[in-house]
Order: sequence, then structure tokens, then C-alpha cells
Amino acid sequence: MASQEFTYWLAGLRSRAAKCRDGDSLWHTAASQGLLSLAIPESAGGGGAGYEAACLALETLAQESGLSGTPFAMAAQAWACQEPLIEFGSKPQHEKYLTPLLAGAAKGAFAATEYDSGSDLLSLSTRAVRDSGGRWRLNGSKTFVTNGPTADVFLILARTAEGSPLTGLTAFLVPRGTPGLHIGMAMDKSGLTGADLGTLNIDDCALDDSDVLGGPGAGFAVLMHAMRYERAFILAPALGLMARALRQAVEHARSRSQFGHPLASYDTIRQRLVRMHVSLTSARELLHATARCADAGTLDHGRSSLTKLHVSTEFNRFCQELPDVYGGYALLPETGATALLTDAVASRYYSGTSDMQVKIIAEGLGL
Ligand SMILES: Cc1cc2nc3c(=O)[nH]c(=O)nc-3n(C[C@H](O)[C@H](O)[C@H](O)COP(=O)(O)OP(=O)(O)OC[C@H]3O[C@@H](n4cnc5c(N)ncnc54)[C@H](O)[C@@H]3O)c2cc1C
Repeated sequence: MASQEFTYWLAGLRSRAAKCRDGDSLWHTAASQGLLSLAIPESAGGGGAGYEAACLALETLAQESGLSGTPFAMAAQAWACQEPLIEFGSKPQHEKYLTPLLAGAAKGAFAATEYDSGSDLLSLSTRAVRDSGGRWRLNGSKTFVTNGPTADVFLILARTAEGSPLTGLTAFLVPRGTPGLHIGMAMDKSGLTGADLGTLNIDDCALDDSDVLGGPGAGFAVLMHAMRYERAFILAPALGLMARALRQAVEHARSRSQFGHPLASYDTIRQRLVRMHVSLTSARELLHATARCADAGTLDHGRSSLTKLHVSTEFNRFCQELPDVYGGYALLPETGATALLTDAVASRYYSGTSDMQVKIIAEGLGL
């Protein structure tokens, strides 16, 4: 997609997203316009606009709709399901799973986390073993699965050999309806309204080699590939939410007066709004620069972790300042200030916690 064409495309997305009042219609609107395939090269059936364009689209979707959960859930599908499928999927897997995901005709979920394996993910205990007929038998449970309650296909990480996780993990593509796959209800949670998180209980699912992504033992590579994109770009929608919140906070500061003068005339309020602007700008600059690395084929794990850590840190700084522009009105839903704070807290944990990003960056520094 040429840049002029993308500009028109984005304008169309902006006006349609602004009219969406609920998560389902936002997902349908964005997917039917091609958002989920935007970053994918045209040769692979995508829109060919690249990663920076896709991030801008996710940012716009959140900014215009004001909904945080749906753009987050779409981003989770794009980066943690579609990207590994593109990289490791066979032609039949592309036809069966990738094509409907890109078109918005199916939803995908990435299921790695378990109750006892969060940050310590490589200790996961979901297992697949070969039965006497050569089929895989998958058993275990998963939690915190974004899109879990409604997904049509699950990318499930399991142990298939003891010893090193580098070769002992395997990724399975498991469609909804597979006997033995029990999909839990949406988890009761705070924040990210519109993004459903769920649990899986996997009770002796019979799977074939054709359901394995990237071959037996490629699970670690699949996980790393997913995390390289997810950590880099999962916070693209947060940029749009911050931009929307900043605009509304500036309007509030200009329109509300106390002691006979607008709030915007008081230095404390002005400094807060400026610090919020700085947080948003630095987060946005870094995420977009990282997207340009991906477009140039030079995105590495260190850069992805750095981006996740910085953008989530600035998102949290921004949301610490925001309520103080509103005072008591911060508690009213129409300002969105406390809801956004909850979303910012969540951003410190998904795709690996901030502590884990620090660990990765420190290792990259040779520490
Ligand atoms: C909104 C949301 C969406 C998610 N979506 C998905 C999904 O789609 N698929 C999926 O598989 N998972 C998903 N997750 C799970 C997510 O990846 C985990 O929450 C995350 O990896 C942290 O694991 P935990 O929550 O078990 O925390 P824990 O690992 O229990 O960590 C608790 C605290 O201890 C710290 N800690 C742990 N170990 C160390 C250490 N060695 N050194 C220092 N500090 C440490 C952590 O940084 C954290 O602050 C999602 C989570 C959230 C919140």
C-alpha cells in the first residue's frame, strides 16, 4: 500500500472508529477494513503497509473510539498469533488459520502462561506425548489467555521433551471444538474493558503433526518470535489512549475555573500537562522508531524489551499525573482517568513484567 493510499485508508478508519460504541463493532469495523493484515507483505496476502503503519492504525483505533480493550486484543492476536503463523506456518496452516485471522473471520489466542508458570514461563507443565498410534496427546491448563473465551484457534505452548527448553517445547495449533479442549468463561478483571481473558483446561486433546507449528521442539523459537513483536508493539493502542486523554485534560484545564482563573493558568496544572505531553511524545517516538526497525528487518529482542519497558513506564507516569488535573472529577467515568490508570498498571505485566524486561536488557548489556 502506497503512503497516499494509506493516508486515505487511515482517514476512513478514523471516522468509522469514532462511531463505534462497543468492542464488538470496533473489532468488526477495523478487521473488515483490513487492520489485522496491514503489516503483512502483499505477497503473503496482507495490506503491505508495514509495521509502523499498523501501529499507527492501532493507535488511531484506540484514540478515536476511546476503547482500550479491543485494540489491545487485536494487537495481541496480530503479534502473538499471526506473526508466528507467518514465520513458522506451513501452507495448509496458512490456509486453515492465517487467512481467516487476517480477514477478521476468526479470532486467535496465544496460550503460554500457567498458574504456576508466569514470569518463570519455561517451567510450564502442560505436556504433549505421542500415543501408540503416533498422535500427540496434550494435557494441562492455561490462564490469562487474551481472546481466550471467544477465540477460534489457540496457539498452545507445551513441553514435549525433558531437558533444555530450547528443544523441549512445542507449539500446537488447536481449534475451538477440539475434543478435550475446555474453554473457561471470561476472567473477572479490572481494566482493558472489551478484552476478554480466559483459562483453558486441556484434557487429552488428540493432535497430529499437522497441528504442530514449526515442527516438534520449535516451541521456544515460536515463543521468542511472538514476544519480539508483542513486546515491541502491544502498547501501540496506549499511545492513542494517552493522546485522547491529554486532549481532554487540556480542555478541562482551560474550561474549568477556580479562584476566578482557569486551572490552566496555574503552574502546577501546566507542569502536569507538560510532563504528560513529554511522556507521550517520548513513548511514541521510541515505539515508532522500533516499528521502523521492524520494517527494515532489524528488530531484535533487546530493542523490543526496551520499547515495552519504556512505553509502559511512560504510560504509568502519564496516568499518575492525569487524575490530578481533574481533582474529584477523576473518579467519574466520563473522564476515564481512573480506568486508564488500571490499564497502565496492566501494561507493567503482560508480555513479560517490567522486571523481566529489565533482566533481558541487563543481560544484553553484559550484566
Ligand atoms: C492483561 C493481560 C493479558 C495477558 N495475556 C496473555 C496471553 O494472551 N497469553 C499468555 O500466555 N499470557 C498472558 N498474560 C500473562 C502474562 O504474560 C503474565 O501475567 C506475566 O508473564 C507475569 O506472570 P505472573 O502474572 O504470573 O506474575 P509472577 O511471575 O508471579 O510475578 C509477580 C511479581 O514478581 C516479579 N518477579 C517474578 N520473578 C522474578 C525474578 N526472578 N526477579 C525479580 N522479580 C520477579 C514479577 O516481575 C512481578 O512483579 C497476560 C497478562 C495480563 C495482565
